[in-house]
Amino acid sequence: VPDSADAVLEGLDPEQREVATALHGPVCVLAGAGTGKTRAITHRIAYGVRAGILPPASVLAVTFTNRAAGEMRGRLRQLGATGVQARTFHSAALRQLQFFWPRAVGGELPQLLERKVQVVAEAAARCRVRLDRNELRDVTSEIEWAKVTQTVPEDYPAAVAKSSREAPRDPAETSRIYGLYEQMKRERSVIDFEDVLLLTVGVLQDRPDIADTVRGQYQHFVVDEYQDVSPLQQRLLELWLGDRDSLCVVGDASQTIYSFTGATPDHLLNFRARYPRATVVKLVRDYRSTPQVVHLANGLLSQARGRAAEHRLELVSQRDPGPDPAYAEYVDEPAEAEGTARRIRELIDAGVPASGIAVLYRINAQSEVYEQALADAGVPYQLRGAERFFERPEVREAGVALRGAARAGGNDSLLDDAVDLPSQVRAVLATKGWTPEPPSGSGAVRDRWESLAALVRLAGDFAAARGEATLRDLVAELDERANAQHAPTVEGVTLASLHAAKGLEWDAVFLVGLTEGVMPITYAKTDEQIEEERRLLYVGVTRARRVLTLSWALARSPGGRAGRRPSRFLDGLRPGSAAVGARARGGGGGIERGAVRPRTRKPRGPARCRVCGRTMTDPGELKLMRCEDCPSDLDEALFERLRDWRAEQARELGQP
Ligand code: ATP
Ligand code: MG
Repeated sequence: VPDSADAVLEGLDPEQREVATALHGPVCVLAGAGTGKTRAITHRIAYGVRAGILPPASVLAVTFTNRAAGEMRGRLRQLGATGVQARTFHSAALRQLQFFWPRAVGGELPQLLERKVQVVAEAAARCRVRLDRNELRDVTSEIEWAKVTQTVPEDYPAAVAKSSREAPRDPAETSRIYGLYEQMKRERSVIDFEDVLLLTVGVLQDRPDIADTVRGQYQHFVVDEYQDVSPLQQRLLELWLGDRDSLCVVGDASQTIYSFTGATPDHLLNFRARYPRATVVKLVRDYRSTPQVVHLANGLLSQARGRAAEHRLELVSQRDPGPDPAYAEYVDEPAEAEGTARRIRELIDAGVPASGIAVLYRINAQSEVYEQALADAGVPYQLRGAERFFERPEVREAGVALRGAARAGGNDSLLDDAVDLPSQVRAVLATKGWTPEPPSGSGAVRDRWESLAALVRLAGDFAAARGEATLRDLVAELDERANAQHAPTVEGVTLASLHAAKGLEWDAVFLVGLTEGVMPITYAKTDEQIEEERRLLYVGVTRARRVLTLSWALARSPGGRAGRRPSRFLDGLRPGSAAVGARARGGGGGIERGAVRPRTRKPRGPARCRVCGRTMTDPGELKLMRCEDCPSDLDEALFERLRDWRAEQARELGQP
């Protein structure tokens, strides 16, 4: 703990110090990735508290994820500043709602609804609409989209028409179900995740007495990742502030990646116009990444267009040089995953902790091959913000169907026309509504299709490796894989979508699947959407401290058509189009080819609680990765999951 307020400023550069010591009036920090924005605001709060200028209980710091909030609280403690609230918009709003609900409405705050889909199903039934599980998820996603964009049921059809999105169902019908869903929540006295912000804004707007109480409590506001603030969050911030201006925001317009929730960097870029006496500070020294990584990040942004790009600042690395970013081209996705797992194994063997390594991809459906490859290589891993492949409902459902067919064996007429295993699998999945052609558009339906397509590919790989394999063998293999993947791990390699990687950093980062159609994703069509995809890649590149590998596969599955092409964003940045990464490492000469081998697996140790280390067996505990005796932070964990999940869904929905 620093022994004085001034000592808190040590370890900051002059511009960061300017931020930390500007404790009066509005402050805006516009700066690129890794320049120490989060560090500067953390030290600013600590300095203000230690100098006796900011009473800790009067400060509200808003971060983008609960994990970031936890990190900030930890850091503040180390700097000798305790008692400061560091929360996400959602968790801050929920706390305030809980506190004010008795006064504003009476009684306790309604419970947070966990099984939303069930209520939507009942609402649909009351509207006499029969929905299967997939359709139900679509309608639920539509309701979430409507709420995130502040659209009431009556306005939903018009809003959909205006949004140039394709609604998965008749909008009038969805609107009726949505209306009834809202009514049923009120009847049952429950609220959903989206209601938290909506209700808080509502109460603060309608009840000046309550708004005054909140304003009496919080006088100083600090917001991280301000470029991705949604209109509703901005409104909440304004209500918290009232007519005061003790607001410090930091952000990087080039990292705006949540436009689909209505987020816009305009609030950040217009800050000075809004607060003419604001202190505006720009940071350009990059403390996170090596010059090689920074060079690539700058190169990527130099091709960017649009308003965010106009404000970009060239980053200057402060670190010692490291290895050049590696580019690796693979014949197919399993080969890419195996190659990636092999390199990760080498890094770990060379002393890099697994927790310092991440594999980042564009969509969660890409995780499966990496989960498998890492499990095969005996590398512990954890997923951020997504269900593990074998835990996804559609994959579980398909597993049940395959097991049934395997049990029936030759007696199942369904399989009569199928010569080989992959077609048997396709025949079984066809009964679950799966078609070889992907559905048009994006969203939950497409996600499910992708998961099942991954299962079909997996069957193909297995059949290719095992010649005479039967459906029964495949089911046994799937069970084994599911078990191997199930055991929760502590401090493993992180697998995450690029959206979930925001604000974080790792020593080594693997950006995988960088082909056209995935990065940018097929449904990014307009210039604006393409630019957002580019920013997403920029976020990915700038997560790396030292080792950065960018890879792609020419075909999806072994023997498949090698028709894919590396991401356009790498044009002019990657050296040539050859398999540079693979060759430079002398491995096999030329393109790395990952043969599909029968997989052998080492049994893992028992699953242990993430908090206390006790061995766990209860499935509920396993899922939470925390034993029942360790409920601390449970709300936070729940929030994190809900948030990531909602964001992921909203992202998909935001695309036409
Ligand atoms: P992002 O845009 O990705 O959120 P950021 O601007 O918030 O990045 P930080 O996460 O605050 O950047 O800092 C990046 C890394 O650089 C961290 O490891 C941080 O500790 C380190 N760092 C920041 N400022 C300094 C400094 N003045 N001296 C040494 N290290 C620093
Ligand atoms: Mg940050």
